[in-house]
Amino acid sequence: MRIFISGPSGVGKSTIITEILKRNPDFVLSISYTTRPPRPREVDGEDYFFITREVFEEMEGRNEFLEWARVHDNLYGTSISWMEDRERQGRHILLDIDVQGVRQAQQKNSPGVYIFILPPSIEELARRLARRGTEDDESLRIRLKNAKSELRSWSMYDYLVVNNDIAGAVQDVQSIINASRCSREEIIERIPWLREIE
Ligand code: 5GP
Repeated sequence: MRIFISGPSGVGKSTIITEILKRNPDFVLSISYTTRPPRPREVDGEDYFFITREVFEEMEGRNEFLEWARVHDNLYGTSISWMEDRERQGRHILLDIDVQGVRQAQQKNSPGVYIFILPPSIEELARRLARRGTEDDESLRIRLKNAKSELRSWSMYDYLVVNNDIAGAVQDVQSIINASRCSREEIIERIPWLREIE
């Protein structure tokens, strides 16, 4: 199964994803391709595959991406073959993808569970972004503006999880995963005899 998770910058999405991966060893995080330069401590092939714009455009031309998007002037894309390789190994995929990417995946009827992480309020999101202190004023302003425009896409998602506190939000996402493990589509994959009852 594919679980898509989006949420504006500063909403706590990465922490939630880290916790979910710890609790669900049969899940892997989709590693995207990006033209963004690596940040300190980011590792090629672990955080992202860091590539040039040229290579990105070649891959896009060969339709190798399930979706791709421009975020803060950088390009990000999800490789179809990377995901399918992992699925063949029996893994489920967690995708950390912005709203533009989700829109494309849904347009391609990509099966999956779509979750959006919400802040308790816009004011609280602004406070969390400022507290991170990694951004200068201008990029902070851009991130907040982008966050608001992302939040307007809430209705594309199957589930909305409000991150009042991390533990509660992790619990909510885990509940969604647990329920999805019992979905008709998942179960029928595992017990083929169900289709064959005479
Ligand atoms: P960052 O540069 O901070 O790692 O990521 C910035 C944004 O890009 C995040 O909101 C993240 O969800 C989004 N992003 C990362 N990888 C992908 C991808 O493969 N596709 C899309 N559409 N968005 C991505």
